[in-house]
This record gives sequence, C-alpha cells and structure tokens, in this order.
Amino acid sequence: MVATPHDKRGGLGDVVRRHIGFVPNPLSRRSEQLHSRIRDAQMTVSVCPYCGVGCSQHVYHQDGKILSIEGNPDSPISGGHLCPKGASTYQLVNNPNRPQRVLYRASKSDHWEVRPLDWAMDRIARLMKRDRDADFKLKNAQGVRVNRWESVAHIGGATLDGEERSSSTRASSGVTASRSG
Ligand code: SF4
Repeated sequence: MVATPHDKRGGLGDVVRRHIGFVPNPLSRRSEQLHSRIRDAQMTVSVCPYCGVGCSQHVYHQDGKILSIEGNPDSPISGGHLCPKGASTYQLVNNPNRPQRVLYRASKSDHWEVRPLDWAMDRIARLMKRDRDADFKLKNAQGVRVNRWESVAHIGGATLDGEERSSSTRASSGVTASRSG
C-alpha cells in the first residue's frame, strides 16, 4: 500500500505549526523553510524484518531511496511502537558499515582472500546447482516419486519472520521440485 504522508504544507498540521492558539507563530525565515524530511515522500506499509512478533512499519521513500522507517500506529500488534532493534531498521538498508566484501579461503589454501559479495553469491549459486544436479533423487528405493535433494538442508528458527520463511521455502521448493516438471 502506498500513501502520502500527512504533513504536506497547507494541511491542518501546517496551520497548527504556524499559530500559537489564534496568534500567528513568529517564525524566522529559516524556520519557515524547514520541513520534515518525509514531506514529499511516499509511504509503504511493511513488516519489521527482525523477529516473529511482526510489528508493522511505515516505510517512507522517494526516488527509489528509503528516507525513514517508523512504527505503524494502525498495527494491532504494536500500535505504532517499535523496539530498539525494529526502530533501527533504516540502517539495514542505509549503512556504509555493512560489509560489501567477503573473505574466501580456497580449498587447501593457507590464507584468506578478499572477494566482492556478488562474486560470493554467484559462487554459492553455481555450487548449489552443481550439487543439486549430482544428488537430486527423483524416486526413493521403493520407486515412489520424492523429488528431493538429500545432500543439502537449511535450518530455521522462531526468529524467522513471515517473509524469511516464505523466501526460504520458495527457494527450497524451487531447487528441489523444479526437476519434476
Ligand atoms: S520491532 Fe522489535 S519486537 Fe517488533 S518485530 Fe521488530 S524486532 Fe520484533
């Protein structure tokens, strides 16, 4: 769902901001020009990515960039509140400290090499495909069709949220069942 924020100039909030009671608020020229950083943003309702509580969030974005992520007051779970972790979700997508490279140690090597994250993702996908092609079982010993890949497993837990469960299940089904078609 996409909506525009409620603090556009000219709305009730703007009228209140410009008055103290019925008296116009004497704003400096600089204060006149200040505005909320989300004034011209669009808002999308989302869910906190961190834990299974599933608090709802308002994600404010503009020109493909996320400007702010805040609690959704309409959420029946959290009523607009976010815990400290959820309140820091903005930094999940906007954070210069996030690693963009990985450490890779080749088989039988005695040292680590720095490689780009994209290289690592491509390598993981290639190795998974190779392993799947080698180990995929169409039928079990009794001849029953099972469509499974027995040499790989993934582990989840209570901290996976709905999106993560959905993504991991789709990924697992995609690599195990696609050969049955
Ligand atoms: S805001 Fe906190 S409690 Fe709510 S879903 Fe996110 S991590 Fe969990």
